[in-house]
Amino acid sequence: MFTSPKKGVTTAAAMVRAQHREANLDRQEKNMAFPMFGFKGFFFRPSLNINDNITISLPLCPRLNKQGKPCGSPLSGESRSVLCEVCDGTFEMPYTAQDFRTKAHRAYEGYLNSSAEIISLDVPYDAIKAEKEDETRKIRIVWSQKDGRNQAVVYFIQKENISGEKAQVFVDIDRRETRSDASDIHPEKILAKLTAEFPTATTETVYRSEAEIKVDSEGE
Ligand SMILES: [Zn+2]
Repeated sequence: MFTSPKKGVTTAAAMVRAQHREANLDRQEKNMAFPMFGFKGFFFRPSLNINDNITISLPLCPRLNKQGKPCGSPLSGESRSVLCEVCDGTFEMPYTAQDFRTKAHRAYEGYLNSSAEIISLDVPYDAIKAEKEDETRKIRIVWSQKDGRNQAVVYFIQKENISGEKAQVFVDIDRRETRSDASDIHPEKILAKLTAEFPTATTETVYRSEAEIKVDSEGE
Protein backbone atom coordinates (compact mmCIF):
# COMPACT_ATOMS: atom_id res chain seq x y z
CA MET A 1 0.00 0.00 0.00
CA PHE A 2 1.24 3.44 -0.91
CA THR A 3 0.68 6.67 0.88
CA SER A 4 -0.11 9.40 -1.60
CA PRO A 5 2.41 12.28 -1.60
CA LYS A 6 -0.39 14.64 -0.69
CA LYS A 7 -1.24 12.69 2.42
CA GLY A 8 2.45 12.58 3.38
CA VAL A 9 2.69 16.35 3.19
CA THR A 10 -0.45 16.74 5.26
CA THR A 11 0.92 14.45 7.94
CA ALA A 12 4.23 16.33 8.09
CA ALA A 13 2.45 19.67 8.31
CA ALA A 14 0.22 18.32 11.07
CA MET A 15 3.27 17.19 13.00
CA VAL A 16 4.89 20.62 12.69
CA ARG A 17 1.62 22.23 13.81
CA ALA A 18 1.47 19.89 16.80
CA GLN A 19 5.06 20.74 17.73
CA HIS A 20 4.31 24.45 17.49
CA ARG A 21 1.22 24.01 19.61
CA GLU A 22 3.23 22.18 22.23
CA ALA A 23 6.00 24.82 22.19
CA ASN A 24 3.38 27.56 22.56
CA LEU A 25 1.71 25.83 25.48
CA ASP A 26 5.10 25.34 27.06
CA ARG A 27 5.90 29.04 26.61
CA GLN A 28 2.52 30.09 27.97
CA GLU A 29 3.10 27.93 31.01
CA LYS A 30 6.52 29.51 31.61
CA ASN A 31 5.09 32.98 31.05
CA MET A 32 2.44 32.35 33.72
CA ALA A 33 5.28 31.69 36.14
CA PHE A 34 6.85 35.15 35.65
CA PRO A 35 5.65 37.48 38.37
CA MET A 36 4.62 40.98 37.44
CA PHE A 37 7.14 43.45 38.82
CA GLY A 38 6.93 47.05 39.89
CA PHE A 39 9.29 49.71 38.59
CA LYS A 40 9.03 53.44 39.32
CA GLY A 41 5.40 53.18 40.37
CA PHE A 42 4.09 51.09 37.45
CA PHE A 43 3.84 47.38 36.77
CA PHE A 44 5.48 45.36 34.02
CA ARG A 45 5.12 41.77 32.95
CA PRO A 46 8.07 39.77 31.62
CA SER A 47 7.37 37.06 29.08
CA LEU A 48 9.22 34.87 26.62
CA ASN A 49 8.86 35.72 22.96
CA ILE A 50 8.79 33.19 20.16
CA ASN A 51 12.63 32.95 20.27
CA ASP A 52 12.53 32.34 24.03
CA ASN A 53 14.04 35.76 24.77
CA ILE A 54 12.62 37.73 27.64
CA THR A 55 10.53 40.68 26.61
CA ILE A 56 8.96 43.22 28.92
CA SER A 57 5.42 44.49 28.48
CA LEU A 58 4.58 48.16 28.12
CA PRO A 59 3.78 49.77 31.50
CA LEU A 60 0.63 48.35 33.12
CA CYS A 61 -1.91 50.00 35.40
CA PRO A 62 -0.28 50.71 38.79
CA ARG A 63 -3.50 50.79 40.82
CA LEU A 64 -3.98 48.18 43.54
CA ASN A 65 -7.37 46.64 44.19
CA LYS A 66 -8.87 46.09 47.64
CA GLN A 67 -6.99 42.82 48.00
CA GLY A 68 -3.72 44.62 47.33
CA LYS A 69 -3.38 43.01 43.90
CA PRO A 70 -2.33 45.13 40.94
CA CYS A 71 -4.93 46.08 38.38
CA GLY A 72 -2.19 45.45 35.83
CA SER A 73 -4.35 46.29 32.81
CA PRO A 74 -2.80 47.73 29.65
CA LEU A 75 -2.86 51.52 29.58
CA SER A 76 -3.89 53.70 26.70
CA GLY A 77 -2.65 57.15 25.80
CA GLU A 78 -0.34 58.81 23.34
CA SER A 79 2.17 60.56 25.60
CA ARG A 80 3.19 60.18 29.23
CA SER A 81 -0.42 60.78 30.36
CA VAL A 82 -2.16 57.44 30.32
CA LEU A 83 -5.54 56.01 31.14
CA CYS A 84 -6.69 52.66 32.50
CA GLU A 85 -10.07 51.86 31.04
CA VAL A 86 -10.60 49.01 33.51
CA CYS A 87 -10.38 51.01 36.75
CA ASP A 88 -10.87 54.47 35.25
CA GLY A 89 -7.54 55.66 36.56
CA THR A 90 -5.43 58.35 34.90
CA PHE A 91 -1.70 58.38 35.50
CA GLU A 92 1.38 60.34 34.55
CA MET A 93 4.35 58.19 33.58
CA PRO A 94 7.94 59.40 34.13
CA TYR A 95 8.88 58.43 30.57
CA THR A 96 7.14 57.65 27.32
CA ALA A 97 5.83 54.09 27.19
CA GLN A 98 8.67 52.78 24.97
CA ASP A 99 11.44 54.44 27.04
CA PHE A 100 9.76 53.22 30.20
CA ARG A 101 9.67 49.67 28.85
CA THR A 102 13.39 49.82 27.94
CA LYS A 103 14.35 51.09 31.39
CA ALA A 104 12.17 48.47 33.07
CA HIS A 105 13.82 45.78 30.94
CA ARG A 106 17.27 46.91 32.11
CA ALA A 107 16.09 46.99 35.71
CA TYR A 108 14.70 43.46 35.33
CA GLU A 109 17.97 42.17 33.86
CA GLY A 110 19.82 43.84 36.72
CA TYR A 111 17.50 42.08 39.13
CA LEU A 112 18.16 38.72 37.45
CA ASN A 113 21.91 39.33 37.56
CA SER A 114 21.89 40.47 41.15
CA SER A 115 20.05 37.35 42.28
CA ALA A 116 22.50 35.08 40.47
CA GLU A 117 25.12 33.19 42.40
CA ILE A 118 28.72 34.02 41.69
CA ILE A 119 30.64 31.17 40.18
CA SER A 120 34.39 31.58 40.32
CA LEU A 121 36.40 30.34 37.39
CA ASP A 122 39.53 30.34 39.54
CA VAL A 123 40.72 26.89 40.48
CA PRO A 124 38.66 26.25 43.58
CA TYR A 125 40.29 25.15 46.79
CA ASP A 126 39.87 21.41 47.15
CA ALA A 127 39.56 21.07 43.38
CA ILE A 128 41.52 17.89 42.94
CA LYS A 129 42.09 15.67 45.85
CA ALA A 130 43.85 12.42 46.43
CA GLU A 131 43.86 10.55 49.68
CA LYS A 132 45.53 7.41 50.95
CA GLU A 133 45.49 6.02 54.44
CA ASP A 134 46.30 3.09 56.63
CA GLU A 135 45.33 2.47 60.27
CA THR A 136 47.51 5.19 61.72
CA ARG A 137 48.37 7.64 58.95
CA LYS A 138 46.75 9.52 56.15
CA ILE A 139 48.18 11.44 53.20
CA ARG A 140 45.98 13.96 51.47
CA ILE A 141 46.77 16.02 48.40
CA VAL A 142 44.76 19.14 47.65
CA TRP A 143 45.02 21.35 44.61
CA SER A 144 44.82 25.05 45.41
CA GLN A 145 45.72 28.57 44.38
CA LYS A 146 47.63 31.07 46.46
CA ASP A 147 48.38 34.61 45.27
CA GLY A 148 47.35 33.48 41.80
CA ARG A 149 49.89 30.64 41.71
CA ASN A 150 49.05 26.97 41.43
CA GLN A 151 50.13 24.73 44.20
CA ALA A 152 49.52 21.33 45.63
CA VAL A 153 49.28 20.95 49.38
CA VAL A 154 50.34 17.58 50.73
CA TYR A 155 49.06 16.85 54.21
CA PHE A 156 50.59 14.23 56.47
CA ILE A 157 48.07 13.33 59.12
CA GLN A 158 48.60 11.08 62.11
CA LYS A 159 45.22 9.69 63.11
CA GLU A 160 46.15 9.44 66.80
CA ASN A 161 46.70 13.22 66.84
CA ILE A 162 43.17 14.20 67.79
CA SER A 163 43.98 17.91 68.03
CA GLY A 164 44.03 17.88 64.23
CA GLU A 165 47.58 19.17 63.85
CA LYS A 166 49.18 17.98 60.68
CA ALA A 167 52.38 18.39 58.78
CA GLN A 168 51.95 20.00 55.41
CA VAL A 169 54.16 20.68 52.46
CA PHE A 170 53.30 23.17 49.74
CA VAL A 171 54.42 22.20 46.29
CA ASP A 172 54.47 25.46 44.34
CA ILE A 173 54.05 24.42 40.71
CA ASP A 174 54.67 27.88 39.25
CA ARG A 175 57.82 28.62 41.26
CA ARG A 176 59.03 25.03 41.18
CA GLU A 177 59.72 24.88 44.88
CA THR A 178 58.44 23.26 48.05
CA ARG A 179 57.69 25.00 51.33
CA SER A 180 56.37 24.01 54.70
CA ASP A 181 54.13 25.83 57.12
CA ALA A 182 55.71 26.72 60.46
CA SER A 183 52.36 26.88 62.25
CA ASP A 184 51.75 23.14 61.95
CA ILE A 185 53.86 20.12 62.77
CA HIS A 186 57.15 20.52 60.97
CA PRO A 187 57.61 17.95 58.19
CA GLU A 188 60.97 16.97 59.71
CA LYS A 189 58.99 15.18 62.42
CA ILE A 190 57.61 12.88 59.75
CA LEU A 191 59.87 13.12 56.70
CA ALA A 192 63.60 12.72 56.35
CA LYS A 193 63.78 13.86 52.76
CA LEU A 194 61.40 15.31 50.21
CA THR A 195 62.07 15.22 46.49
CA ALA A 196 59.80 17.10 44.10
CA GLU A 197 60.17 16.58 40.38
CA PHE A 198 58.90 19.43 38.18
CA PRO A 199 58.99 19.34 34.38
CA THR A 200 62.15 21.49 34.28
CA ALA A 201 63.64 21.13 37.74
CA THR A 202 63.97 18.77 40.67
CA THR A 203 64.16 20.00 44.24
CA GLU A 204 65.36 18.02 47.20
CA THR A 205 64.79 19.03 50.78
CA VAL A 206 66.70 17.08 53.42
CA TYR A 207 64.98 17.41 56.77
CA ARG A 208 67.19 14.99 58.65
CA SER A 209 70.51 13.53 57.69
CA GLU A 210 71.10 9.80 57.85
CA ALA A 211 73.51 10.38 60.74
CA GLU A 212 70.79 12.17 62.73
CA ILE A 213 68.32 9.37 62.09
CA LYS A 214 70.91 6.82 63.22
CA VAL A 215 71.58 8.73 66.46
CA ASP A 216 67.84 8.99 67.11
CA SER A 217 67.08 5.33 66.53
CA GLU A 218 70.03 4.28 68.74
CA GLY A 219 68.79 6.59 71.48
CA GLU A 220 65.35 4.97 71.60
ZN1 LIG B 1 -6.37 49.86 36.24
